[in-house]
Amino acid sequence: MFERYTGEAWEARFLPRLTYQEIAALPKEDALVILPIGAIEQHGPHMPVMTDALIGEAVLTHALDQLDEEGNIWLLPPLAYGKSNEHLDFPGTISLSASTLQGLVTDIATSVAKAGFRRLVLFNTHGGNTDLLNVAARELRISTGLMVFFLSPSSLNAAHDLLSDEEKEYGIHAGDYETSLVMAIKPAWVHTDKLVREIPDLSGLHYLTLEGKTRFAWVMSDISSSGAMGDSTQATSAKGELILSRCATTLALALKELATFEISTVRSAPREEMSVRDA
Ligand SMILES: [Zn+2]
Repeated sequence: MFERYTGEAWEARFLPRLTYQEIAALPKEDALVILPIGAIEQHGPHMPVMTDALIGEAVLTHALDQLDEEGNIWLLPPLAYGKSNEHLDFPGTISLSASTLQGLVTDIATSVAKAGFRRLVLFNTHGGNTDLLNVAARELRISTGLMVFFLSPSSLNAAHDLLSDEEKEYGIHAGDYETSLVMAIKPAWVHTDKLVREIPDLSGLHYLTLEGKTRFAWVMSDISSSGAMGDSTQATSAKGELILSRCATTLALALKELATFEISTVRSAPREEMSVRDA
């Protein structure tokens, strides 16, 4: 017996548990394939380097558990590694280069398209992957014809009323949000005796922000000495449970919308063209 890949979501939704004949027979018209992309990178003194990959798998597992049986939504093996070179000053970070990550995602997407699927979600749980994956998504739209989506659980607005204003602004890495989640997902993997509060000093700056529209390029050791950014001393497993369940509920609804989205319906005909056609 082997315990990984157990439970409803993995039994019912894990694409590579099927045979090639079963995959060939799947209706592709309304199918959605999900590629989770995480990171293996330092997450402060209190959290495992697998934090981002772990959060992605947990959120997806809970979301897929909430889908009804008809949903034609399929999970690929999660890609644990991401582009994490901003964390390489801390040991345990394993980073793919930008070109490697783009190459991996491109090769996987090309194979997904060749099997006849039409929709692919890049499900991302590491902020450092975001810019690259959005570039890759558009390149894939052009090269494969797939409808490609970018989705990140942190953008599902599941914690807006649970975090302080300071945390919403600066809690970008191993802060209250992520620490609460891992406390709920794998409590034994959090060192509660090493929680840390670290907030950058951006006082006196009117335009520059860490992740806003006017920004400076940084690596983590430029802006944090502990490797964390935010206040994990506020984290609780109860908060993590709530964020996890809200993320899962919203994600399940979002995935259903993505699975039936048709990009061909987005463009509206110009008025002149319509009147010519109507005439
Ligand atoms: Zn993280």
